[in-house]
This record gives sequence, structure tokens and C-alpha cells, in this order.
Amino acid sequence: MADLDAMRHSASHVMAEAVQSLIPNSRLGIGPAIEEGFYYDFELPRPLAPDDLAQIEARMAEIKVRNSEFVCQELSKDEARALFSDQPYKLELIAELPDEKVSIYRQGDWYDLCRGPHVHSTGEIGEFKLLSIAGAYWRGDEKRPMLQRIYGTTFPDKQGLETYLHKLEEAERRDHRRLGKELDLFSIQEDAGPGLIFWHPKGAMIRYLIENFWKEEHLKRGYQLVYSPHIARADLWKTSGHWGWYRENMYAPMEIEGAPYLIKPMNCPFHILIYKSRLRSYRELPFRWAELGTVYRYERSGTLHGMLRVRGFTQDDAHIFCRPDQLEAEVAKALDFAIFLLQTFGFREFNVELSVRDPQNRTKYLGSDEIWDRAEGALSSALERRGQPYHRAEGEAVFYGPKIDIKLIDALGRPWQGPTIQVDFNMPEKFDLNYVSEDGSEKRVIMVHRAMLGSLERFMGCLIEHYAGAFPVWLAPVQATIIPIADRHLDYAQKVNDQLTEAGLRVEVDSRPERMNQKIRQAQLNKIPYMLVVGDKEGADGTVAVRVRSGENLGPMPVAELQSLIERQVRAKE
Ligand SMILES: [Zn+2]
Ligand SMILES: [Zn+2]
Repeated sequence: MADLDAMRHSASHVMAEAVQSLIPNSRLGIGPAIEEGFYYDFELPRPLAPDDLAQIEARMAEIKVRNSEFVCQELSKDEARALFSDQPYKLELIAELPDEKVSIYRQGDWYDLCRGPHVHSTGEIGEFKLLSIAGAYWRGDEKRPMLQRIYGTTFPDKQGLETYLHKLEEAERRDHRRLGKELDLFSIQEDAGPGLIFWHPKGAMIRYLIENFWKEEHLKRGYQLVYSPHIARADLWKTSGHWGWYRENMYAPMEIEGAPYLIKPMNCPFHILIYKSRLRSYRELPFRWAELGTVYRYERSGTLHGMLRVRGFTQDDAHIFCRPDQLEAEVAKALDFAIFLLQTFGFREFNVELSVRDPQNRTKYLGSDEIWDRAEGALSSALERRGQPYHRAEGEAVFYGPKIDIKLIDALGRPWQGPTIQVDFNMPEKFDLNYVSEDGSEKRVIMVHRAMLGSLERFMGCLIEHYAGAFPVWLAPVQATIIPIADRHLDYAQKVNDQLTEAGLRVEVDSRPERMNQKIRQAQLNKIPYMLVVGDKEGADGTVAVRVRSGENLGPMPVAELQSLIERQVRAKE
């Protein structure tokens, strides 16, 4: 996509020229091509308003018609400094460039500090559209000035642009932050602080259903559930090494009776302490210990994003402690389990990556060649036996073991971070984790970290967008709304409500003094799977008139029949 990148980067230059010509005293930051378009950062004498974008686009169109050639010019740093004397951000960049020569690109009278490449002329910037305005710290550093960023995109043809804009609209319609509020699923509260999620009753119901399903499936697969504390002595985190290499993401220690304690960013050391609580025999292995463990990690406020990037979250964590000869089977089982879980939530496509050692530099890894060969072999053969296509990422393994990462592809074709299966030779070393082998000697155990959904917060955010808020019947916080046509039908509505609630269904009565059509509309907006309309006839026959959220009318149905319809769907996880 090198051509597309050049086209997008060229469009960012054209946009910057347009902004500078419309708003005097604009200072320029940087303006790269990005995955789906481009942006440019500006320091401007006034805040931009959405109306500005149309004006900037109009000026860009003029520059496009002018069709100025992009011309590269090499300058000495002194010459460049003179050219950009009123552009402090450019001067900062020039100072940091390693070479004595720097290059600029000109388009007509306008120029920018730039390495290129560009398209031939401004007439070739394609079909562009400016999309949004955002704040962005200079160089992503919250101690530096906040600049104004304009995002845009461009495509070689109109159709490409329109398809993309349609996809954007669809993504916005599904945005979990918007839907989370509209459907009253969760909130983030300024009073409590950024990056901390409040699960409202409806969101909490979905989480409860996911957690129950998750636990049941773990028990079926020989896992055992454990619970661990939220804080521990700082010394534990020194032993584990987190206080060294993970410190930036951890919160400051708190003092308890003179000893420093830390809030956990991970669950691993706790499961390790359970393992170490007594001698373990080769006969007992493997142990598979699972916990929905809530952890806290520091993320810069600028990087927080809805439920996807947060400061406190619950991992669906598990640790497998096994013998080397058990590793392959354990990894294969974890992989099958991961795919099974994701398929249950309606994901069909996955991108799988296997991270292994850098074959050129095998010394930087912990553990013997033999154990690495075995572990890498275990992971790749688990993938191959499933017939699972995957990408082998050489050199991407962390120093302590190879891993499998699975990205799930959602209904809009977007990838989301999903399950990871990570082999770890490091923690067993640090904590001296052993088992008594057949001959009575102590042997090192192998540890596997694995998360299937990742974090419940991120997975929930992903599910909201994947389903566009219309959760399947088995997960819907409210499965059916009962809609009495008039007040005199309230008693019957309540009776149906009680009957279905007692059967374990999640139903509610819309008793508001609104017209029936209004109530149906509201239930549709709330994305409730079934609407059960009850009037004189239904009351007399013991039926409900069933409508589904897509608008389809299933007609009258005995209450018991509707009940078994929903129960069937719940069993089938539909
Ligand atoms: Zn450039
Ligand atoms: Zn772990």
C-alpha cells in the first residue's frame, strides 16, 4: 500500500497548506499517513469547530485543482532553520534529525519538512474527506502543549471513499461507549476517576451470564477455580520481577503496619503461591487454576478508551502447571477451548500468531535450547493439528517463553485482541517451582498463562460493538418486554411476567401510560429480543402476541410455548 500511503501523506500536506492559508499564525506539528487515512497536528490561535472542516476541504479542493508538483529539496540544517524560523515544532524536529542534510517538499509556494515520499502533484491526492478534530499532545507527551489534530482520509476513487465512510458510520452506530450509555450497560464516572468501569444492572447481568458460562466450561475441562487477594507485599512483586520490569504500569505502594504493599497488576504470583503451599507430585499434574481476577494497571489518561483501555479490569485468567511431557496436550486443549468460547459468542474468523525465538539470536532467551524447542514445537503442532492457519512471528517471543495470540474478527471485519496462551520458563525459576518426579527427584514445573476473553471489560466492549447492542437471547439482560395494550390488561401482563420470571426468564412489564406503538418502539430501541403484546383476546386465551426486535410478527402464542421457545434458544446459546 505504499502508493496509498504516499497519496494520504500528500493529502496531509495539502490540508496543512489549506489550514495555514485560512488561519494565520498556524504552527505545524506533524502530519503522517496512518492506517486508514492521515492527520496533521496544528497549534492554532483558536479552537477549530466542525464547520471549519468544510472550509478547509473547499480550500484543499482548490489546491488539488492547482495541481502543483511535489518537489523535494535538500537543505543544510541552517537553511532549514531559516525557512522554519516561525515554526518551533519544526525547529525541534530539525534539531533532532541525525543527518546534516534535511529534506523539504514544496508544492507551489508552500513547503514542509519531510522525508516523503509523495505522489507526483497535488492533483493526485485522490477523493478526500476530513473526518474529525481531536486534541493531541505534542509527541504524545502530556507535559507538552495540546495541539489540534485534524483527521482525514483519501482513496483513489469515489467508491473506495464511500465504502469507507459507510463503514465508519456503522462503527459509530456500534460504538460501545454510545450504546453502553443508551442501553444503560455501564458508565465511567469523573467522580471516581478515569479508566474505572461501573457495571450497571443490565451490563452486570450480561457479565454474570458470561462469567457463569465461563466457569461451567472451565469445570467441564478439568479446571479448578481459585480466588486471590487484591494486594500483596511489595517483596512478592520483587521476587516475581514485576517491580522491576513492570513498575511503570503499577500503582504506588501503600504502607500497612510499616511494610509496603502493592495492588496487583497480574494474578500470576498469587497462583504461584498456591502452588508452593505444599509439595506437588508428578502424579497430580497438571493443575489448571482459573480465576476471574481483577487487576489494576496504570495507563496514561490520554490512552484510555471506553471499556477497551481501562485502569482496572477483570482478567479471565488461568495458569496451568504441568510437566514438559504434558505441555503439548495442554496447549492443544487451551487452544480448542479458546476457539470454542469465541465461536459461542458468534466469532467465526481469527488471526492467529505464534511468537517464537529469533533464530539469529538465541542467547537472549531464558531456558535451554531443548526446552524452547519443545515448547515451540508444542505450540506449533497444537495449531497444525487443528488445521489452524497461523503466522509464525520469529523474534517476537518474550524472553521467557513462546506464545500464541489470537485476534478475533468482529461483524465489521475489525480485529480485536483475544486469547493468549503464554508458556513461561521464568516464573518457575524465580519462585523455584518444582514437583517430585517419578524417581523422587525435584523437577522444574512448566507454567502456562492463558486468558481466553482477555479482560471482561474489553470483551464486553467488543461484544457490544459486535452485536451492535442487540445481544442474543441467551445474553440479553431483558429477554422479553410484556406490553399491555391498556391499563385493564396490567393484571394479566403481571401474571405472564410472574410465570416467566419463575421459569428463570428475564422479562419486564412496560406499565408506562404510553401508547402501544410507543412501547414497541422503546423495546426495539432497547434491543430487547421479544415483545409480548397482551390485550383482551390474549388475556382470555392465555396467550401473548409475539413480535421480535427486527420487526417480525410471530402472532399469538400460548405463554408456555413462548417460554420453551426462549429456553431452547438459551440452551443453544442463540
Ligand atoms: Zn511530509
Ligand atoms: Zn499469568
